[in-house]
Amino acid sequence: PKPNIDPTAVLIKAYACQRRTPLKHHNSFLTDALEILSQNAEYNDNEGRSVAFRRAASVLKALPYRVKNMEDLKSLPCLGDHSQRVIKEILEDGSSREVESTRQSDKFQAMKALTGIFGVGVRTADRWFREGLRSPDDLFRTGQQLNRAQQAGVQYYDDLQKPVTKAEADVISDIVEKAVRAVLPGAEIRLMGGFRRGKEVGHDVDFLITHPEEGKEEGLMPKITNWLEEQGLLLYQKTTRNSYLEKMDGPARAPNNMDRFERCFSIFKLQTGSERASVSGWRAVRVDLVVSPYSQFAFATLGWTGSKLFERELRRWAGQEKHMSLSSHALFDSKQNLYLRAKTEEEIFAYLGLEFIPPSERNA
Ligand code: ATP
Ligand code: MN
Ligand code: MN
Repeated sequence: PKPNIDPTAVLIKAYACQRRTPLKHHNSFLTDALEILSQNAEYNDNEGRSVAFRRAASVLKALPYRVKNMEDLKSLPCLGDHSQRVIKEILEDGSSREVESTRQSDKFQAMKALTGIFGVGVRTADRWFREGLRSPDDLFRTGQQLNRAQQAGVQYYDDLQKPVTKAEADVISDIVEKAVRAVLPGAEIRLMGGFRRGKEVGHDVDFLITHPEEGKEEGLMPKITNWLEEQGLLLYQKTTRNSYLEKMDGPARAPNNMDRFERCFSIFKLQTGSERASVSGWRAVRVDLVVSPYSQFAFATLGWTGSKLFERELRRWAGQEKHMSLSSHALFDSKQNLYLRAKTEEEIFAYLGLEFIPPSERNA
C-alpha cells in the first residue's frame, strides 16, 4: 500500500509546462469525463471552453493521488465552476449526467466518426452533419465530393481507426531510417509525438529528420517519398515545401500552431507478417515526416514531442510570463529584440526559466 499523501500539501503549478505529467495517472475516471466535454466544445467551435476543460483534466493528471472528495481540490489551479460541478457529480453519483448525455448524443457521435476520417476537420464534419450525414458510409452512399486526402481517409478508415502499436512504430522507424539513409547519408532521424513520450499506442507515427550540415536537408522530402514509393510502401502522401523565413515568420506574425517545415502527411502500407493479423497481410498506418534544418532541430524536437496541451502551455508561458515568442522554429525574446539559439531542449527550457521536463512527463 502507498503511503498516504496529504492533498493539501501538494503544490500544483498553473501552467502544464511547469508540471510533470506522467502517462499513467490516478484520475482517469474524472479526466475522461472532462475530455468528453472538451472534445464536444471543439466540435461546437468553442475553443475557449474546449481548452478550459482540457486544462482542468490536465491538472488532475498531474496529481499524485486519486481524488476522493471536493476538499482534495481546494488548492488546485485551472478548475473552473463548470469542471468542479462535473467532478462533484462524478464523486457523488459515479457519473455526470451532462457527460453521459453528451457522449450519447447524435451530434457528438457523428462528429467523432466524421472527424475520425483522415483529412476531415471540424468545419467539414459539421457541414456534413447539418446535411444529415453521420458516418463514412453515408459519405459513400450519398456520393459526397471528397478531396484526395479524404478519399484515402475513407478507403483506409478501418485500418486507421486501429491504434498503432509501439512494435509497429519500431518497424516503421526501421523503414524510414533505411529510406533516409539511402537518399542522404549522415541524416539523423528521431521518433517524435506520443511514442517519444512513452505511449504504447498512437493514432500515427511521427518522425523528425535533419542533417548536421545545414542546407543538406533542403529538398530532402521528395527524395524520401520517391524511395518509399518505388518500394511500394506508400498508400498516400502529400508533401508541403518548407516556407519558413525568419524575417517574415518572426514575432510580427500572428502565433499559429502550424509550423512551416517541409513535411509529409502519409499513409504507409505496413506488412503485418502473419496472415492471421489481417486477411490481406498488410495494414495502413498514418505517418508524419518532418524535415528541419539543423539550427532549428532543438525547437522542432520540442514542438513535435507534444502533448498538444503541453505545447500550447509552453507558448502561453513564453508569451505571458517571459515576453518571448516560441515556435517549432525559434525562440524570440521581445525585450532584447533577438533570437535565442539552442542546440538542445534543455537550453530552451532554461531560456524560458522552466525546470526541464523530460518527454515522458509531458503527457499533459
Ligand atoms: P498520437 O499518439 O495520437 O499520435 P501525438 O501526441 O503523437 O498523439 P500528433 O497529432 O501526432 O499527436 O502530434 C504530435 C506532435 O506534433 C504534437 O506535439 C503536435 O503539437 C505536433 N503537430 C502535429 N501536427 C502539427 C502541425 N500541423 N504543425 C505543427 N505541429 C504539429
Ligand atoms: Mn502522433
Ligand atoms: Mn502526427
